[in-house]
Amino acid sequence: MNRRITVKFATLASCFGRLESTPSRNGMIALLARLLAGAALDEIGIVCYFVLGEIAPGYSAVNLGVGDRTVAAAIALAAGTDLSDVEAAVRETGDYGDTAARLIEAPATGYLSVLDVYRGLSRIAHASGPGSAEEKKAILARLLTAAPPPERRYLVRLAAGEMRLGVGEMTILDALAEGFLGSKAERPALEHAYNISSDIGLVARTLLEVGLPGVRAITVTLHRPIRPMLTQRVGRISEIFERIGSPVIAVEEKYDGERVQAHKDGDDVTLFSRRLTDVTAQYPDIVRHVRRCVVADTAILDGEAVAFDHAAGTYLPFQTLMRRRRKHRVSEVAGEIPATYRAFDLLYANGESYLHQSYPDRRARLEEVLRRDDHISPADRIVTGDTDGITEFYLACIERGLEGIVCKSCADDSFYRAGAREWQWIKWKRDYAPGISDTLDLVIVGGNAGRGRRAGTYGSVLCAAYNHEEDLFQTVCGMGTGFSDRDLADLPGRLAGARVDREPARVMVNPPAVPDFWFAPHQVVEVLGLEITESPVHTCNWDPARRRGLALRFPRFVRWRDEKSPEQATTTAEVAAIFGRQREV
Ligand code: AMP
Repeated sequence: MNRRITVKFATLASCFGRLESTPSRNGMIALLARLLAGAALDEIGIVCYFVLGEIAPGYSAVNLGVGDRTVAAAIALAAGTDLSDVEAAVRETGDYGDTAARLIEAPATGYLSVLDVYRGLSRIAHASGPGSAEEKKAILARLLTAAPPPERRYLVRLAAGEMRLGVGEMTILDALAEGFLGSKAERPALEHAYNISSDIGLVARTLLEVGLPGVRAITVTLHRPIRPMLTQRVGRISEIFERIGSPVIAVEEKYDGERVQAHKDGDDVTLFSRRLTDVTAQYPDIVRHVRRCVVADTAILDGEAVAFDHAAGTYLPFQTLMRRRRKHRVSEVAGEIPATYRAFDLLYANGESYLHQSYPDRRARLEEVLRRDDHISPADRIVTGDTDGITEFYLACIERGLEGIVCKSCADDSFYRAGAREWQWIKWKRDYAPGISDTLDLVIVGGNAGRGRRAGTYGSVLCAAYNHEEDLFQTVCGMGTGFSDRDLADLPGRLAGARVDREPARVMVNPPAVPDFWFAPHQVVEVLGLEITESPVHTCNWDPARRRGLALRFPRFVRWRDEKSPEQATTTAEVAAIFGRQREV
């Protein structure tokens, strides 16, 4: 293994090809481990981003901005054909990458290294202003003519944001552990570093350069998001104390808005969403409130952006806040729908990380650091030692139009567990009752062709829950109801980017559920159902001995959950817990 030799893009492209046809996750890990172990220091991070179909960490807001038209024009230029030929070929192949590999016949004019491709794509990402579409086209066309045909396919997919290798960050962490440390034993240290940095490239580079001690030394850094801590759920309010395991707990209001992590660095404020994208531009009002009311020079706060009607003194629903998801007229709409920030945690202040302090200590410090006013404040809460206290606070929240409560452990070890869904935080929402009155957030992995009134769209979609232990998506139901006509008409467009031509490696489907079309795990959808039952068809919590999994009966579409990544969907363990509770009552 020689780490000083630059990796040819060809080597990477052939690995991509093998990854695409590898049916098992372990096979993927082995391929990736070999690839990463051979990469040089200035490339290893880039290789990780490329495998994920990106050119930089997801939070960095580096956007290639290459639309279908520019991609098609670049292919036409490189192939010396008309745009109409490219469009016709795309209609046939359904994919710009395959189209490029097919239409550009000229032999390669050069040799491309991973770094050459990275530099080209970075220039594309940074081209802006008048004439930038032409510039992007020209750079992409030059890369395409330099590359041999198999590489052309992946160059185009990278540029168009359509890699779809089906590899997730957790798969790469396993591959790094195997490739550099010989086993998965130290994988938790890598995962921790990733959870607090959200940058897989940084973890890989540090591992190669400094080894495991370097990875352990990765710390919280301003303007680099920390992966959010998540909540668990229970079947009865009386279960909350048992599960949390501390005699006294905090019960906070649960806001139905958007999770926002605020980084303050003097006057410079960056806001990150739950999916770790930079949403600073979307919330100019929250930026102002953080600047005005956070009295530490540097700080990282976790909290929720909520739409609040100051005149009526009531919280507005999530859908109202989502009207602010826009690129244009941001300030105008911010005036119409002002956002309020409710901070529920402090993760860092004045150069010090608070992740390893207990929740009571973090909360006390949050109250010192944040001056409250009508637009920004710590989340309202009570501290209680009995279930009646929880129930009373919960009912008061519901009366005020809130969604429910989040109960938090006050134990000495109630640290902020970045990226984890554990029993330290438990939510209890309106409509909870035994059985399944809460919704599940599922990932679409397949679709069946629509017939009759649904011709031209999908008749139903195959939905899966996330098995976190095995990093697999296991099916729970086929869903065809609850869609409005508009939702139905939008389905093909929404799912087009995720279409793949074989069963994705991280998806587990039984033969009777095999769909007409496959989708890489990408779109998350909120689903309401009647109950969970055992099923010989669905693979969620699959028991090979009994040949039974768990299925959701009477699933209905509720809404898209674009702010959730597939790995943040309902887990198979949560589905099993709901099933267990149903049997208790
Ligand atoms: P869910 O999206 O239903 O899984 O609920 C978890 C989400 O509730 C978190 O990701 C936050 O965005 C939101 N949330 C609202 N209020 C709180 C709170 N006080 N503590 C923690 N999370 C909260």
